Amino acid sequence: MDDRAAAEALIAAGRRLGSRGLISAAEGNLSVRLDADRLLMTPTGLRKDELVADDLVVVWPGHPDREARSPSGHGPSSDLAIHLAVHAARSDIAAVAHAHLPASMSLTLAGEVPDPGALPETAFHLPRLPFLAFGEMGSQELADRIAAALTVPDGDESAAAAVLLERHGAVAVGRDPAHAVNRLELVEVLCRTWRDALLIRAARAGVGIVDAPSVARELEGR
Ligand SMILES: [Zn+2]
Repeated sequence: MDDRAAAEALIAAGRRLGSRGLISAAEGNLSVRLDADRLLMTPTGLRKDELVADDLVVVWPGHPDREARSPSGHGPSSDLAIHLAVHAARSDIAAVAHAHLPASMSLTLAGEVPDPGALPETAFHLPRLPFLAFGEMGSQELADRIAAALTVPDGDESAAAAVLLERHGAVAVGRDPAHAVNRLELVEVLCRTWRDALLIRAARAGVGIVDAPSVARELEGR
């Protein structure tokens, strides 16, 4: 992927996160590997669904500089450490995406961790979804745990494509930004479905079986 295509892919991925309601305000961040020496990354402080090419920041992982600036004057994402750690751990992927997925945050706030095996789509595309306890946002400690969770230590099974963070959304990897965003979307679908199933079960337990309107009218007529 050349630099221009990489920039367009990052901008499109940011718009898609916004159009799906997966990011709010200046949340979320994305990066893509340009070559062996450089990453292209979304900036801090700007909406990720309204970016232009001049907002994107080039980062050199060999000597990362938090003072690096995009042509429009913006620094790299505050989650720079996550992107550096994951790209260093996963040379087989080219893109990293992170978003504060709303349903994943409500679910993990409530202490629930969904099983990707529950849905056919996530069982196939995200058979492993490691869950990480809360870590300080922007910290090296959290970045290292995320990179480790996305890496298979013994090579016995395939590496995870996404990791779920307690009260902090998810991080996904992919061959390009769209692929990584697809995986974030699937994590959110899993969490939304899991949450809704819990709510329906709780409602049933609380009020008993709820009759459909047509059934209720029939009962009233007796
Ligand atoms: Zn975050």
